[in-house]
Amino acid sequence: MPLFRAAWLLPMSQPPIRDAWLRTERGRVVAFGPTRPGDFTAPDEVDLGNVAVLPGLVNAHTHLELSWMRGRIDSIAAFPDWIRSVMALRRERESSSDEIAQAIAAAIDESRRFGTALVGDISNTLVASAALAERQMAAVVFYELLGFPASDADNVIGHALEVLRMMPPMGEVRHTLAPHAPYSVSPALFGRIRAALDQVPLARSSVHLGESESEIEFLRDGTGPYRDLLNDVGKWDPSWVAPRCGPVEYIERMGFLDDRLLVVHGVHFGAGDLERIASKGATLVTCPRGNVQTRAGSPPIGDFFASGVRVAVGTDSLASVPDLNVFAELAEMRRLSPETSPRLLLEAATINGARALGFESEFGSIDPGKREALIAVELEGSVLNIEEHLVSGIDGSQIRWLSAS
Ligand SMILES: [Zn+2]
Repeated sequence: MPLFRAAWLLPMSQPPIRDAWLRTERGRVVAFGPTRPGDFTAPDEVDLGNVAVLPGLVNAHTHLELSWMRGRIDSIAAFPDWIRSVMALRRERESSSDEIAQAIAAAIDESRRFGTALVGDISNTLVASAALAERQMAAVVFYELLGFPASDADNVIGHALEVLRMMPPMGEVRHTLAPHAPYSVSPALFGRIRAALDQVPLARSSVHLGESESEIEFLRDGTGPYRDLLNDVGKWDPSWVAPRCGPVEYIERMGFLDDRLLVVHGVHFGAGDLERIASKGATLVTCPRGNVQTRAGSPPIGDFFASGVRVAVGTDSLASVPDLNVFAELAEMRRLSPETSPRLLLEAATINGARALGFESEFGSIDPGKREALIAVELEGSVLNIEEHLVSGIDGSQIRWLSAS
């Protein structure tokens, strides 16, 4: 039952505490508060020194199975080309499962080193699930389905449900279903996924939405790079009719816009879309570094927060970012929107991500009863505005886990 002392404690459920103490017991937070002059030294005291203690971060959107692609996709001109590059690379390397598994294991370890306690992982193959469980990384694994021809819907959902049925229980690695994106999932498949999710009322889902301008064009006119891509891979469905609406309205029509949904990206939403997401209680997950790298565009971070939508943050995959450092995403959000309060940015990486993934009783804030999944960030000298400091760029070498202290 150690008593920790630290220069700063950021519970996230209340303002930062300077010169704080924290008691934990059997892996849970018991109590914490400010150190007062004359406080006794406890025999089991651990002085963490000049550090800021905060909840382990939540990476609400990544694709661990793509980790082996790190550094392998060259800079491209537009987002749909990036999808083509990923598809081509996947075809080339389909057989090297050892390399894929090793990259996944290394990526999970790297996430931990960067202070991540919980991930939302998008997977088309579920190859990362066992590695997550083995490494005791809590996760929601979104089994992501694709199928644009309406005639594929029954097969795709049937296969997915069978695969999920065969998965052994994996503790804190929870599985659910997710449609990939409006240009890769037929209305029929959206419907099948919705019906399957409705059997599990608390199940989260996720969708890539408003990521590129090409998606907006596709939904409006049924034309553009996605139409070409579907043609090229033999997946265009001539019975599909462009809905002539924006992506948020489309996903609402598909029955997905509610408080269990993680809307990922939102770089290219129209007027009122963010408010619509906010009013339904869905979470917007931003992946700013990846958006820039894939030429999707810079996410309007300031608009996200101004709209009142719950914002979480993800790194996206190592195919599009150099590392899985959530602190680096926060620094990018800060760069894109210096006017947004650092507190809001930190909430995105902690409590909001935990809520979005349904793990808020365990992670996301420092409160009695919650998990001692806490990190200590090394500080240099006296830091006056700790929240601003933490969103200005923190490297893995500055981070250690409390339970390993
Ligand atoms: Zn993604």
